[in-house]
Parts: sequence; structure tokens; C-alpha cells
Amino acid sequence: MDMTFVLFGATGDLAKRKIFPALYNLFLDQKMPEKFSIIGLGRREIAHEDFQKQVEQSIHTFSRRAVTDQKSFKDFLGAFRYSALDVGRPEDYVKLLELVKQREQELNLPENRMFYLSVGPEFFEVIAANIQASGLGATKGWKRLIIEKPFGRDLQSARDLNEKLTKSFTEEEIYRIDHYLGKPMVQNLEVLENSNPVLHALWTNRYIANVQITASETVGVEERAGYYDHSGALRDMFQNHMLQLMMMIAMQLPKESSPEDVRNKKRMVMESLRPLQEDQISSQIVLGQYVAGEMNGQPVVGYKDEPGVAVDSQNNTFIAAKLWIDNYFWEGVPFYIRTGKRMKEKSTRIVIEFKEPLKSAKVDDSYVPNLLVIEIGPKEGITLQLNSKDRVSDGQFEPVYVNCYSSLTEQPEAYENLIYDASRGDATFFAHWNEVELSWMWVEPILKAVEQGKLPLQPYAAGSYGPQAAFDLLGDDQWWLDE
Ligand code: NAD
Repeated sequence: MDMTFVLFGATGDLAKRKIFPALYNLFLDQKMPEKFSIIGLGRREIAHEDFQKQVEQSIHTFSRRAVTDQKSFKDFLGAFRYSALDVGRPEDYVKLLELVKQREQELNLPENRMFYLSVGPEFFEVIAANIQASGLGATKGWKRLIIEKPFGRDLQSARDLNEKLTKSFTEEEIYRIDHYLGKPMVQNLEVLENSNPVLHALWTNRYIANVQITASETVGVEERAGYYDHSGALRDMFQNHMLQLMMMIAMQLPKESSPEDVRNKKRMVMESLRPLQEDQISSQIVLGQYVAGEMNGQPVVGYKDEPGVAVDSQNNTFIAAKLWIDNYFWEGVPFYIRTGKRMKEKSTRIVIEFKEPLKSAKVDDSYVPNLLVIEIGPKEGITLQLNSKDRVSDGQFEPVYVNCYSSLTEQPEAYENLIYDASRGDATFFAHWNEVELSWMWVEPILKAVEQGKLPLQPYAAGSYGPQAAFDLLGDDQWWLDE
């Protein structure tokens, strides 16, 4: 639907690396509305033409597809305008409203307005309030608000923020980005499970032994120490991305599902998640911090020696968790989740380990469980690990793999999927307030235990798969695919 896309933080890093390239690729795929106006906002004064040049540069550098048709690229860039705006100055919003209206008239656009806040979370509230106060939000069409993470830093701050935002936008108008939900393989989970009878038949606690979700990064804290040292793996990854992945894999959807069904089912998963008991936290949660180690044969420093990190920092760069979903479907199936920085390999994947009802005493150690491995990134693919007979060593089993990988350059990026969905008003792959609130509620005892010093940090060497305690956490089970 024809619209105006208003981008706060248009001179920032995220806009340059993700948002402009996403808009361009949507345009190439004819997924942008027929008519659209894009207005970038930043603190500095910049001429429209110079801003268009910045957009052009960002697309040349970061777009997954190159510019081949100069004429259509020029048309695309022609839709961009710029306005300087300081988030706290009401008069800047009045100026913005004039520009929005002027472009709506020039292009004969309905008053459909998308406000994308690619700025720090401390600005969400003031921007939402000023959109309302200036009249920008009083449209004859629709208005929507897209916001980036983080959504609060604990339960109370998340609730406060939500209360303030909902003074200017209804829940239905708020699209909270969790870019993991935009990843093509995550969006594919439902189809994978529900459209393959072979998997669907086995998708129960009768056959599934455990579910493992890993998001390991090889990078350290990079230039983000200021933010990360106060956030850590728990707030930066676990409360949002990891729990969202868990909801996506654990929810049970009806055959024909609507965005409301998805929200309801995800909420139900969170409501069934067994709350952490104070005296059991240390047997279900492991927090770690990397120390000096080696990556690709090169020595790397420990977290505390990273630029910008306090020498006595108690921040977690790794978390592993064992969770139980107490519903009919998942009863007795542990979910293992881990994420960390400076780990051996970069990978986001879900592994489903199947039970071994056929395993008999006759079966030797070479027998491996059936695994369904769903690779979400950086490569994307599905692998099924099966047992076969090794004809050379008689009687032994040998694992065989049925797999497929797709070429990532042909896949839309997460931000393309998400911006496209938001422009159509489809909130399926966004984080609903209920999910955010329930996630913070679940995480709250961990925050408390950290504060009280009850969850000591486990050191792990940079370049490893995490601290030993994360392996011990699994008892007789094991993390799969760690070489
Ligand atoms: P950035 O610092 O590169 O850009 C910030 C933008 O905000 C700039 O355009 C700046 O002009 C604008 N800004 C700052 N103060 C302002 C003010 N007073 N008035 C008006 N505009 C102001 O930040 P970024 O990396 O682009 O991130 C933007 C948001 O997205 C942050 O909330 C961040 O947490 C979130 N985020 C970023 C990434 C990423 O990969 N960069 C990933 C996920 C979430």
C-alpha cells in the first residue's frame, strides 16, 4: 500500500548497512508500494541531494544485489528526502510534518505513515510522544511504529517503556523488530514442521529427546563495549533472540494460522515455560566470560582486556540454559539454549535430537541418534542425520546425512522480510508485547541472581565452545556438532 516511510536515525550505522539496502532490494523485487516517499532524519543538516548520495553509497557497499539498471536506481533514489531533526525539539517535528505532507501531495499519496526508529532506545519515548503531539500521527490512513531492540533492560523498564509508547500507538501499530524472526529459515520453521508428514508425525515428546538452540559468534565485543558491557549475552541475545527462537520452534500452530494464532501460541509457550526457582538457577543457567585464547591460530585477548571494557567487568559474554516447557506436547523434553561471543565457530542453528526407541543392547557405540539440524545462519540449510551400515567395518553403524543448502545471495535478508511485512501490516514475525513481557519475567530471577552474586561467571577460552559448566549442564546429553 502506498506510504511514507519516515526513518529516524537515517545517518546511523543500521540505516546504512541494513535498512537502505533492504528498501532497495524490496524495490527490485517490486515489493515496495507503487508510490512511496522516504524521509530520512538525523541531527545534522544535510541537503536532500547529499543524503541521496549517502543512500546510493550504502547500497553500492551493502546491497546483496548490485545495481544494474541505472534508470530505475535513479527513480528509487529520487524518492528520498532529508530533514534535520533533534528528537527533543518539537519544532523539528512540525517541519517534518510539512515535508511529509508536501511529498504526500506531490506524489498523491494516502496518509499511510510508517515511523521507523533506528535510534537508541532512550529516544523511543520522546519520539513517539512528539509524533503524537505534532500531528504527524493524526493520519487519515494508517500509522505504524517500527522499533529496534533493546526493549527495556529488565521487566520494570520494559513495562515503563511500553506504557509510554502505547500512549501514542496501539499495540497493533507497534512492530518490535527481532531480526532473528526475519531470517528466512526461521520463517520457514512452520512449513518445515507442518507440511512434511515425515517430520510432523515425529514432532512430539514421544520421539523428540531434546531440542538445542545455539547462536555462537566468533567476534568479540568489537566497538560496542559501551553498550555491551551493560547488557551482556543475557540481555543482548538471550532474553530476545534466543527465547524467540525457542517460541518459534515450540509453538503448535493450527493448519491454517493467522498472525493472531502465532501470537497466541507463542504466548502459550512462554506461559508454560517452567519458572526458574531460586535454589535451582545454578543447575539450569551457566554464565560465562571469555578469557584470552586463540582463534584461527591467532592469539586473542580476553574480554576484560578489550578496549572500552572495565578491567574488573563482571559482564557475561556467554549463557547456556536448560529449560522445560510444561505442556502436554513438550513435557519431559529439555530445551538447551546457548549463545556467546568469541566461540569457535559462527553459527545459529537448531538441533532436534530424536529418541532411540530402536536402540537395543546389540547396538554398539557407533550408533548415533537421528538429528534434524536446522541451520539458520550464516549458511542456511537442513540436515537429517541417519544411521547406515558401514560395509567396510562389518556390523558398525555409520552416520549418513541427508541435506540441502540454499544460496544465501538469493535469499531476502531479514530486514527485507520485516520491512515488507510491516508495510503490509503483517505482524506475524514481530515480537508482541506479551512475549516481551513474559520473556523479561522469565529472565528476572537470573538478573536477580547475578545481582546477588549467586551466578559466578565461568571463564572460557576465546575460540572454544564455551565453559565446561555448559557441557556439564546437559548431564547425559551432549551438545551436537561441536567438533
Ligand atoms: P548509530 O549511533 O550509528 O546511529 C544513531 C542515529 O541516531 C544517527 O542517525 C543519529 O543522527 C541519530 N541520533 C542520535 N541522537 C539524536 C538526537 N538527539 N536527535 C535525532 N537523532 C539522533 O546507531 P545504529 O547502530 O544505527 O543503531 C540504531 C538503533 O538500532 C539502536 O537502538 C541500536 O541499539 C539498534 N540496533 C542496531 C543494530 C546494528 O547492527 N547497528 C542492530 C540491532 C539494533
